This record gives sequence, structure tokens and C-alpha cells, in this order.
Amino acid sequence: QDNKFQAIISHAKEYGFVFPSSEIYDGLSAVYDYGPYGSELKKNIRDYWWKSMTQLHDNIVGIDAAIFMHPTTWKASGHVDNFSDPMIDNKDSKKRYRVDHLIEAFADKLTEGGKEQEAEALLAEMERLLAKEDFTALKQLIEDNKISCSVSGTVNWTEIRQFNLMFDTKLGSVAGDAETIYLRPETAQGIFVNFLNVQKTARMKVPFGIAQTGKAFRNEIVARQFIFRMREFEQMEMQFFVRPGTEGEWYQYWKDARLKWHLSLGIDPAKYRFHDHVKLAHYAKEACDIEFNFPIGFKEVEGIHSRSDFDLTQHQQYSRKKMQYFDTDLNEEGKPYGNYVPYVIETSIGLDRMFLLILSNAYNEETLTKEDGSTDSRVVLNLPAKLAPVKLAVLPLTKKDGLPEIAKELVDSCKPFFRCFYEEKDAIGKRYRRQDAIGTPFCVTIDHQTKEDQTVTIRYRDSMTQERIHIDKIKDLVLKETF
Ligand code: ATP
Repeated sequence: QDNKFQAIISHAKEYGFVFPSSEIYDGLSAVYDYGPYGSELKKNIRDYWWKSMTQLHDNIVGIDAAIFMHPTTWKASGHVDNFSDPMIDNKDSKKRYRVDHLIEAFADKLTEGGKEQEAEALLAEMERLLAKEDFTALKQLIEDNKISCSVSGTVNWTEIRQFNLMFDTKLGSVAGDAETIYLRPETAQGIFVNFLNVQKTARMKVPFGIAQTGKAFRNEIVARQFIFRMREFEQMEMQFFVRPGTEGEWYQYWKDARLKWHLSLGIDPAKYRFHDHVKLAHYAKEACDIEFNFPIGFKEVEGIHSRSDFDLTQHQQYSRKKMQYFDTDLNEEGKPYGNYVPYVIETSIGLDRMFLLILSNAYNEETLTKEDGSTDSRVVLNLPAKLAPVKLAVLPLTKKDGLPEIAKELVDSCKPFFRCFYEEKDAIGKRYRRQDAIGTPFCVTIDHQTKEDQTVTIRYRDSMTQERIHIDKIKDLVLKETF
């Protein structure tokens, strides 16, 4: 499993998907840059989410709020006081660990040793103690389970303490006059503070949602997990505002709807599961994660939270501005009141984590048997065609006899519609392999017969089958399969 994860990380770098940030200076811990194919794939995932949320739901609109927000926002939201993880330091190695990650690592070791029931019991006990914030008992649990810690002998632990995850910086350049502000640790608050602006200007009626994608920052205590856990990352969040009392149904609705979205990408349902939270975040009434079976095990990719009226009420209190909705429908139904603070269901997914999900799911090392019985191998990304960075590669068989001209004409006619790639160098087999490695679903080869009858060879990435079709049919075929 770990080998596969390492192979994916190398592949991502070699083929221009993900690079360590500032690599020439040996990188920056838990920060990454997206390369030419990675940025396309990431954009396609973001667009796919955005379209499903806004374009396909009449009652959801988008916004694009700033990363910087008034500092009181984070006081009201509870992040200044509560957005922290319990951590513990190993005094000898000077390494810092998140308590839950450390205990999860112990549980993984137990599982590896075939002691699955003990692992389950350990995790259950951890969740129980975290919910109670019983740090003395948690420290004891760590000490009792140190068998699996990489440091041998006695481990000298510090006490467990809370570590706030927000980054701060200074607004204003005059020394002494600066105000401490935070880099947002989630995009959600930009939605809450704009609740009435959006509701009024877009003339929305409850129930309705506001969607947003954008960067968030958390000073994570990181285990090396590539883009799974980053200090700067992107979220895709949607807050759905509902009548008080209906939140239970809507929570269920969004749980189902979000799982359907994941499965619409053709991913095996067995790789997904729900995990209900025992320890609820400071704002949550009910919460679950959608977990995916990554090469590093089942991990959270998305959270669905029933946040009650917590956020809007808090902002109302701190800003002294009304955050209420006047529900005319209620009055018409003869109900006693029309003004209320709506309840909120949130769906929150990490774009980078979804990227890792898509990449891990697509990455395959295949052994191929050739016609003469000998074997060959290929690395292929079986990406969903609609997310692939390049949709069509056009490859003239030779660099002469007018074949490049025909190929370029095809590229020119297709490129306003989808991303194409043209290449004339190297043997055709080698060119196919390079496209397999970046997940291009269709390759078209132009050969001498094309000049005679305007047919080309189209090769399908997953099956590697080929067929001859008329050159005029290519654009529509690719459009149909990648839309
Ligand atoms: P975790 O328990 O893994 O720290 P969380 O429960 O704190 O995550 P949320 O606050 O619910 O995460 O954030 C919603 C989503 O944002 C997560 O499901 C995840 O996909 C993404 N996310 C959160 N933190 C990070 C991070 N450090 N790097 C990348 N993605 C992240």
C-alpha cells in the first residue's frame, strides 16, 4: 500500500501534476504546487463540483469571498477559542504529534499485526476520551500503547495541550499600528457573513444554498502525507439554509446527494463509507465524514455537518446586525411567526484531497501480453474522461508527406471545445504511453490512408482498442464522451 502511495507521488511529480513547493530550496513542509497537468485536473474537479452545485440546483448560488476577514469573524465563529487540536511532544526526539494521529498510528500497527478488534477498541476509546477532553487518560492511553511508536525504550512525553491551527498576520504597514488578522481556516465564514447580501440580491427563498471554492490555511501538525494534509489548501463548501425543524431531513438529503456526486464519477462504491462523528465540532449538531479507501487507508474526503443556527446567531450577537430571514411562506401557511435565524447544513470537501482521491483511484500499473506472447507494462491513469487534463492527443505517424498539416488542422478545429495535445516526435507506441501516463482518454493517429479516405485511427486509453473512423467524427465523439 505504502509503495503504491510512493509510486503515485513520484508519478505526480514526473508527469507535471504536483511538485513540492519551492523545491529548489528543498521544499516547504506540507505545501505543494500544481504543474501543467495537475492544474488542469484540479480545475476540472473544481468545475465539476461547481456545476453540480450551482448550475444544476436552482436554489444554490455561488460567491467568491476574500481570504482576509474582519478579525471578529473568528471570535464569533469560535475559531479563536476552539479551533485547535490536542498535541503532545516527544521530549527526546523533539517531534510533535497530533494526539489522534498518534493513536491512529498505534491502531494501524495493531491492525497490521492481525489484532483488528484491539485496534477498533483503541480507536473507540480514543474518540470517547477526545470527546471528554480527558487529556490525562489520553496520555495514559498513549503510554500504554507505545509499543508501536518508532522510538524504542521509554518515551518521554510532554503533557497534552491544545494547539490553535490558525495562521495570523498583520494588516497595515505602520509599525505599532498593525492589527492581527487571520488567514481563513475555512471558507464557510465568508458565506455566513454574506448571508443577507446574497439572500437579498439573488432574491433567494429558504431553503437555499450558497457555494464557494477557495483557499484555506491551517497550521497543521503534519505527518508526511503528500497533498492529503496541507497547510495551504483549497476547499469547496456549500452552506444550505433551511427552516428550523427541517434540518434532519436536509442533513439526510445532502448525505445522499454528496455520495451520489462521488459515485457519478464512476468510482467503485466499495471504496466509500460514511463515518458518523462521536466528538462533534464546537458548531455541530450532527456530523459525518465521507471516507475513501486511499492507498493510506480509509480517510475523510468530505464532511457533512448539521450546524444548527450556531454561526448566524453568533455573527448576529457579535456584529449586532440582524441575521434573520423573513419567511413569507410561513405566514401564508398560517404559522405563528415569519422571522427566524435559519439552520444550516454544510457540505465541505477538500479540493486537493479530492484530487488525491481521483489520482489514487486512476493510477494503475498494468502488465500487458503482446501478440507474440511476450509481456510489457504500462502505467495508466484511468481518469474519468470528463476530468482528464487532456481530452485528445493528435499524432501524425510521420513528420512528412503532409501528415502534420492534417493533424494540426484537426487540433485547430477541436481546441476551442476541449484541451488537445499535438505530438510528432518518437515512435507511436512511446507517444501512446506518455498519453496513458497523463490519462488522455483518446489518441488519434493520422497516417497515409488518411490522405486517401479521410479516416483516422482512434485509440481508447482503457481498453487500448483501436478503430478507424472518419476524421470529421472525432470532435463530436470526444465531446460526447468528455462532457
Ligand atoms: P481532519 O480531521 O482530516 O483534520 P477536518 O475534519 O478538520 O479534517 P473539515 O474542517 O471538516 O476537516 O474540512 C473539510 C474538508 O476540507 C475535509 O474533509 C478535507 O477534505 C479538507 N481539509 C481539511 N483540512 C485539510 C488539510 N490540511 N489539507 C487538505 N485538505 C484539508
